[in-house]
Amino acid sequence: MNVENNRATDVIKTREADIANVLLTGEALKTRIAELGEEITQDYQGTELLVLGILKGAVLFMADLIREIKLPLTFDFLAVTSYGASTQSSGVVRILKDVERSVEEVHILIVEDIVDTGLTLKYLKENLSRRNPKSVKVVTLLDKPGRRKVDVVPDYNGFTIPDEFVVGFGLDFNEQFRNLPYIGILKPEAYRS
Ligand code: 5GP
Repeated sequence: MNVENNRATDVIKTREADIANVLLTGEALKTRIAELGEEITQDYQGTELLVLGILKGAVLFMADLIREIKLPLTFDFLAVTSYGASTQSSGVVRILKDVERSVEEVHILIVEDIVDTGLTLKYLKENLSRRNPKSVKVVTLLDKPGRRKVDVVPDYNGFTIPDEFVVGFGLDFNEQFRNLPYIGILKPEAYRS
């Protein structure tokens, strides 16, 4: 493949017709993720981090974020039950795939795609805290504080967004749209049909 003739484009044609508008461009995401990485690098100076990505939504964010964290770190993934094919939280959180090592005496940084009701995060923070880590903090790419059902505040937040169902950059609807290189608002008719 000729790499020079294969420049990345900011637009993915697949299913683009279902996007009402772009909320955050790829450029805006890149800039903010670099800032978050710098902040985290400063805050954790002299320590070693276990970065825990929540599958699957946080994968793209985490891949970019860890390259901006200039510290020794390891990473792992957790999978929890999510909305499935709905856009509403069921309120039920269950771990489907757990961390593969002991987290005792470890600084944990949970990486989330979005905090909505806060139910997932509250459950994860409590569950991980019971395992005696040195600390548990949370970085989320997006925060929708308007929809919070439980009192949980992310330690680092990329963007506070309005109460809209968003897709792209890892976030899905029905497993689709994760590969969009931006965050977009889905047209309501796309999830009504
Ligand atoms: P919470 O437990 O805070 O209500 O929900 C967290 C999870 O719900 C997120 O990790 C994400 O998977 C899903 N979620 C919440 N809001 C949205 C949204 O606007 N778009 C998408 N695609 N997923 C969302």
